[in-house]
Amino acid sequence: VIALGQPEHHTLTTCAYCGVGCSFRAEMKGSEVVRMVPWKDGKANEGHSCVKGRFAWGYATHKDRITRPMVRKSIDDPWREVGWEEAIAHAASEFRRIQSQHGREAIGGITSSRCTNEETYLVQKLVRAAFGSNNVDTCARVCHSPTGYGLGQAFGTSAGTQTFKSVEQADVIMVIGANPAAAHPVFASRMKKRLRQGARLIVVDPRQIDLVKAPHVRAEYHLQLRPGTNVAVISALAHVLVTEGLCAEDYVAERCDQPSYRAWKEFVARAENSPEAMQAVCGVPAATLRQAARLYATGNAEGRVGTRRPNAAIYYGLGVTEHAQGSTMVMGIANLAMCTGNVGREGVGVNPLRGQNNVQGACDMGSFPHELPGYRHVCDSTVRAQFEAAWNVELSPEPGLRIPNMLDAALSGSFKGLYCEGEDIVQSDPNTQHVAEAMRAMECVVVQDLFLNETAQYAHVFLPGSSFLEKDGTFTNAERRIARVRKVMPPLAGHADWEITQMLSNALGYPMHYRHPGEIMAEIAALTPTFAGVNYEKLERHGSLQWPCNDDTDALGTPIMHVGKFVRGKGRFLITKYVASDEKPTARHPLLLTTGRILSQYNVGAQTRRTPNNLWHDEDRLEIHPHDAQDRGIREGDWVGVQSRAGETVLRATVTERIQPGVVYTTFHFPESGANVITTDSSDWATNCPEYKVTAVQVMPVAQP
Ligand code: SF4
Repeated sequence: VIALGQPEHHTLTTCAYCGVGCSFRAEMKGSEVVRMVPWKDGKANEGHSCVKGRFAWGYATHKDRITRPMVRKSIDDPWREVGWEEAIAHAASEFRRIQSQHGREAIGGITSSRCTNEETYLVQKLVRAAFGSNNVDTCARVCHSPTGYGLGQAFGTSAGTQTFKSVEQADVIMVIGANPAAAHPVFASRMKKRLRQGARLIVVDPRQIDLVKAPHVRAEYHLQLRPGTNVAVISALAHVLVTEGLCAEDYVAERCDQPSYRAWKEFVARAENSPEAMQAVCGVPAATLRQAARLYATGNAEGRVGTRRPNAAIYYGLGVTEHAQGSTMVMGIANLAMCTGNVGREGVGVNPLRGQNNVQGACDMGSFPHELPGYRHVCDSTVRAQFEAAWNVELSPEPGLRIPNMLDAALSGSFKGLYCEGEDIVQSDPNTQHVAEAMRAMECVVVQDLFLNETAQYAHVFLPGSSFLEKDGTFTNAERRIARVRKVMPPLAGHADWEITQMLSNALGYPMHYRHPGEIMAEIAALTPTFAGVNYEKLERHGSLQWPCNDDTDALGTPIMHVGKFVRGKGRFLITKYVASDEKPTARHPLLLTTGRILSQYNVGAQTRRTPNNLWHDEDRLEIHPHDAQDRGIREGDWVGVQSRAGETVLRATVTERIQPGVVYTTFHFPESGANVITTDSSDWATNCPEYKVTAVQVMPVAQP
């Protein structure tokens, strides 16, 4: 299947899948990639890779790639291939028509983690400068937006606090709502190595992930909570620390805001937050909660505070953020780390494991409707003035629409046009029926992507995008590491994505004249203090840089955040009251569905499903506990119907004790499985991040579809 041959030359680049951001040598024969070899000097991976990255070129030349721009009048019409000029002119004239008929706010843009930093920056600039609004959002809306909000509130910035290497100094590791062995395999190997050396492990997850019983590293405590009760668990852990006198008072006195600490202590000490009270809510035995809290704070289950506290590090994933209380849980994690003094040095910290390669960068580059690049609010007139002077345009001080708001506005008739680059919202966002109905209601949808994906079914203009092998730029991984993406072959459709955005902007009358992504990065650095010391010449010289990177930091940037002082000054404790999810088991929907990933597939699978080497796991399955399966007459491999209040789908069953009774689990890599047909549009109270991890469902056997 793979055309292997002897490589003749190679180019260094960065994996386009998960947030580990491994460095690779793309080895070439002529203009063809023959293999991807993990780069031994890559700081994120040190010569390691996983199966996804090793075969990451497989989809780039797949026969499904669209290489000609296409337009159509209505989504029921067939596509018509056109030249670039016609496609861009058509998109621009439709956007202008909509704005003249329905107002400036009637259109918006969505960018993606699959875009480079430079591309994402250009999309938000296009929306702000050429569209004239802040209606721009990114896929972080549906994954780590609660991280942005929660860590921003507690620490003053939303990024992870450590390097990946820092795990090598950890004594206690707590993994919450993440499955690194499947979703971040290269980092998982690093973590397992540390565990084999004796670090102790606590896993908080409704499912028995691989780390719970992996050879030689098994978790000491698996807090197998009911889906939707994260905040109950974190409150119980905090209660133990406060009532048993295990907080690091000296650290807190020096580093943290005292009024917020006192208020937090008073709150978590209440009996309603005790492990005994929370056991009934989360299903984790009180004794286990107590021992896990003591282990995290002191390094032993008895809670003996020795002369040296352990380095305790928390790593978390979408099992934390994709909840109605996602932001609350992120704040709870920050509270736990601060009260035990576990922020601001090697081996500790709060570390969001970013699902996608450049989700960190997409957030950094200002693709949120309320923030300009560098996490600065659009209502800040001083910041806005800097961008207005540089961009020669007046900017709106009003936050724009988030993705769910755009969809709701489309259904109510006030939002009519969308530019969507690299994001398949119809497959990846919750409640597919709702998303599809909103897309159908729009008058001009422009999709810029590699394939005719689910979202393209609702598009009027298709602009063929380029894969990571076809363009230059940078990605920023989960440890804030900025690394180069380098072109190894020309764009199949003739233009890199940043060039397409530029063409659209010029057609709309807002001039952009970049000749290379390095010029875009120079503009980013000039306007974004945390990127002030980033440029392509330095990236060539050092391989990678970690933001903040400016005159106040080392030349290579900042490996560990909040050393000596939090970005906001004093770390702030926040009250995290548990509130039950609206998604509860009922007589009609008695099971709770939660979702996750598998090793061989990446996100909605558009790339990995088109890479032959990754197809050894080629369907999404529903995991169900043997008791629940037996009650329903379901056997291994049977087809089952899964029904929620949002919709229903059909999957094959895997009967397994990895999942607890009353809970079922599936993945979302294959469009035909329709996992998001059943997820609802409940979302995080602060950020609208969807509550993918809790859906009340019924499961019954059905005939093979
Ligand atoms: Fe590395 Fe993630 Fe790519 Fe695997 S998918 S090679 S862990 S960046």
